Amino acid sequence: MRAVDDACREAPALSVAVPVFNEEEVLPVLAARLRPVLDGCGEPYEVLAVDDGSNDRTPLLLEELRAAWPQLRVVTLRRNSGHQAALTAGLRRARGAYVVSIDADLQDPPEVIPEMLALARTQGLDIVYGVRGDRSTDSGFKRRTAGAYYRLMRRLAGAHVPAQAGDFRLLSRAVVDTLKTLPDQQQIYRLLIPWLGFPSGQVAYRRAERAAGTSKYPLHKMVLLAFDSITGFSAVPLRLATAIGALSSVVCLGFLVWALVVYATGSPLPGWSSLIITMLFFGAVQLFCLGMLGEYVARIHTAVQGRPTYVVARDTGEEER
Ligand code: UDP
Ligand code: MG
Repeated sequence: MRAVDDACREAPALSVAVPVFNEEEVLPVLAARLRPVLDGCGEPYEVLAVDDGSNDRTPLLLEELRAAWPQLRVVTLRRNSGHQAALTAGLRRARGAYVVSIDADLQDPPEVIPEMLALARTQGLDIVYGVRGDRSTDSGFKRRTAGAYYRLMRRLAGAHVPAQAGDFRLLSRAVVDTLKTLPDQQQIYRLLIPWLGFPSGQVAYRRAERAAGTSKYPLHKMVLLAFDSITGFSAVPLRLATAIGALSSVVCLGFLVWALVVYATGSPLPGWSSLIITMLFFGAVQLFCLGMLGEYVARIHTAVQGRPTYVVARDTGEEER
């Protein structure tokens, strides 16, 4: 697969990678807005739509669009592998000198792409983040959870993670090639890319509402993303277990001294309920720590198996060669 991925002969100036999962409502709107912007740049480009195992009319629509839009390339994954895996497929297969990743739902405006490209070129930047200046169209819940997520990530993964930067960004060929050297495992790009340390800039934009269709990120996927982000970038939770252990030893020691003093002074010791509460409390703490350990073991398990995060069924860009 590497040989296929690495084959970049006639490299366009720009690749736009779009993960697409059951987006039949939004695809025609996306094409209608994205194409004029890219045609207007006046440079060779390709759009890589990565069909992440859609089971609606998305594959059909992509075929239809492709017939009239020669720059559209469709990469089809065998099964639904998740947003980040679809993004990986897009980044790995993109041939452009610059690669922009953008969601299909038009929450991130394609009109910003030429601005990103110009900024990267004039300032010699390798990364340009699209930063959500205004999220007033997102729900209060989404805003609050996103705010908490970015605060936590800045603490865990370091201050270089730009706040409010999602997966709308421009990368240079150098960054994409560096990403390709990393092992094929679930990557959280919004943390990994800042961590690489390439020179970067930002373009602010207003996050719009989804143009059509519904969110493909239900709560459980958001929770999973948060878990993957934490365990992928920080061993702090593991050390937390050590800290809790140390703290409870001190508390226990305190109780022991107190119990001895009470016993020595001859007053009766209060019994059952305090005992059971303490036992349950420490049982819970132990299970909690074990669970956290389990999260890391599960990730080691997945990494050791070495299965690819996605399998490509078809790449129209390869067929045309
Ligand atoms: N997506 C994907 N695979 C999935 C879930 C989502 O490729 O399993 C794509 C989806 O089509 C969209 C992008 O990832 O282009 C972001 O998803 P969505 O807009 O539903 O997320 P939200 O903006 O609600 O967080
Ligand atoms: Mg969206």
